[in-house]
Amino acid sequence: MRIDSLLIANRGEIACRIIRTARRMGIRTVAVYSDADRNALHASLADTAAHIGPAPAKDSYLSVEAVLKAAKDSGADAIHPGYGFLSENADFADAVVKAGLVFVGPPGNAMRAMGSKSESKRLMAKAGVPLVPGYHGTDQSNAAIEREAVRIGFPVLIKASAGGGGKGMRVVTKLGELEGAIASARREAKASFGDDTLLVEKYLSQPRHVEIQVFADMQGDAVYLFERDCSLQRRHQKVIEEAPAPDLSPDLRARMGEAAVAAAKAVGYVGAGTVEFLKGEGDNFFFIEMNTRLQVEHPVTEMITGEDLVEWQLRVARGEKLPKTQAQLSLQGHAFEARIYAEDPAKDFLPATGRLIHLRPPQESAHVRIDSGIRQGDEIGIHYDPMLAKLIVWDENRSQALARLQSALAGYEVVGLTTNLGFLSKVAAHPAFAHSAVDTGFLDRERESLIPGPEAAPGQILALAALDVLLAHTEEARSRARHSSDPYSPWHAADGWRMNDDNHHDLIFKQDGRDALVVVHYHGASWRIDLPGGASLNATALRAADGDLIAELDGRRLKARIVRHQQQLTVFAEGGCHQMELFDPMALAANRDSAGGSLTAPMPGKVTLVHVKPGDAVTLGQPLMVIEAMKMEHTIKAPIDGVVAQVNFAPGDQASDGDVLIAFKEE
Ligand code: ADP
Repeated sequence: MRIDSLLIANRGEIACRIIRTARRMGIRTVAVYSDADRNALHASLADTAAHIGPAPAKDSYLSVEAVLKAAKDSGADAIHPGYGFLSENADFADAVVKAGLVFVGPPGNAMRAMGSKSESKRLMAKAGVPLVPGYHGTDQSNAAIEREAVRIGFPVLIKASAGGGGKGMRVVTKLGELEGAIASARREAKASFGDDTLLVEKYLSQPRHVEIQVFADMQGDAVYLFERDCSLQRRHQKVIEEAPAPDLSPDLRARMGEAAVAAAKAVGYVGAGTVEFLKGEGDNFFFIEMNTRLQVEHPVTEMITGEDLVEWQLRVARGEKLPKTQAQLSLQGHAFEARIYAEDPAKDFLPATGRLIHLRPPQESAHVRIDSGIRQGDEIGIHYDPMLAKLIVWDENRSQALARLQSALAGYEVVGLTTNLGFLSKVAAHPAFAHSAVDTGFLDRERESLIPGPEAAPGQILALAALDVLLAHTEEARSRARHSSDPYSPWHAADGWRMNDDNHHDLIFKQDGRDALVVVHYHGASWRIDLPGGASLNATALRAADGDLIAELDGRRLKARIVRHQQQLTVFAEGGCHQMELFDPMALAANRDSAGGSLTAPMPGKVTLVHVKPGDAVTLGQPLMVIEAMKMEHTIKAPIDGVVAQVNFAPGDQASDGDVLIAFKEE
């Protein structure tokens, strides 16, 4: 089989990543894009791109018809589905083949067998692969699920059989919680997968997630490309992955690898797949599911094996034999991947939207790889997964690789959107992670300590911010003078910048509701900067050609990148990032709130539950409402102690970003 022209039925970083390998192999690439992605990187990177419909994924990236039409119209002879979207849709895989095209992935039947967690467990049990104790039967009545949960013994985990991405999954610690958990898991499963079949498993205490990368060809050969440890998860979703798994003995590695290869062979698998296991104490491991596609975290495997998994996929899809035998594969060094999301850890990791005003990832090298599908200036909307990029690092051993991860995270500059970068940095710096003493519940247990709290910027950061504001004023005055009809007017004086009588200027920086007063005194060529708390610094500053601020504070030279957007300043300096708002007296007066308040929808979504009614007294943090947005449930909590004055939405209602959901009277 030939593949001369490949359509990538996906978007974002994975589309870009596939395009790069295809191009290197001399294959023409066809991207697809929705209305929301007209200017997206993946669409401009491909040799050609086809519009496939409106922004909602169900009408574009999930539309089998639209994707097949794009393939036909563009003359593509193969389709790579990436991950997510149609990648695990067996009917799509079949339809691609039926249309006379090559599907870069497993046959529809293998996908069907593994696509259902329940069905795959029945198959794995037959193939002798160890399973977590559980129930994956067809009797889906509440009574049957309750009976089985009691038999298995609490705590149990309710899962959506068609599940993925942690959706529809509920931990239940006692019988009383079961009914509510079943109902909410069914709701989420139905909304996400259109299938509310559930299964029940023993909830293992503190396991590690270790998964095996497998590859099979059409000749019936299969190999494993070692493992990835994905134990760092937040609510059962991977956050940081690594390869190889720390402390896995070569013997256990081989046993898990062979079990995974047996799993793949049991369903006639072809192409790239991942067999996921939970690893308990000692050498115990249990199958949980197989993902029949390329995984988000595949780059860590590429870093330690030196293989390009997308190239392997394309070669296998062309009917070639596996590029290497098991004996020819070896692993070297250690790799980590961190998933960088547009989300707000302080707001229960709510997806964040907005424009990327400034984006500067760390420099790529043999040690640092960035897989991303976005550019500075891009708008991150509500329609798709909020992952911005994957940061992948490699080094000779785990501790060196971890140091690389820490410094690359610290040097990752994003302004305009709230991201999880601060959270990732805290995770990467945690001593338990350094000692690889983490299990799948670690992040959820440690969550409070890992969420970056409001941190007052240190004095020297405030000084850098003040210097940047002053230089900007000077620059602005100069530019005004240059463009003025009277360039020598004293009103354009740039030095000392329009000082008041005793040659000082007050600047107020607001951070998380606190004001920091910085007073700058002019002394000819230098400044004295009075900081909150009484300290004082002597300072000089200049602007480097790249826009960075170079300052000397009390004889110490510092370099900072300061991104200013209206009154918002983001200071990148000393390996940290600090955000503040430059005080504007007019805005303050307008902001003085009346007593009471209201709660607005943080993003567009559907109200699924309402817990309160007008007149109810509520306390700070009390759950008030549940909104389903991006197929996940978000609980809206009381922002103050107060009395509910008005509830504006009922279950089933659609709320838009910024709609007032509930109004309060303050107590
Ligand atoms: P999904 O397909 O939604 O990602 P998985 O079945 O792959 O769901 O499980 C995701 C994660 O949930 C696992 O990596 C693990 O952290 C946790 N998990 C799943 N099953 C169990 C279990 N039986 N006991 C404890 N944790 C589990």
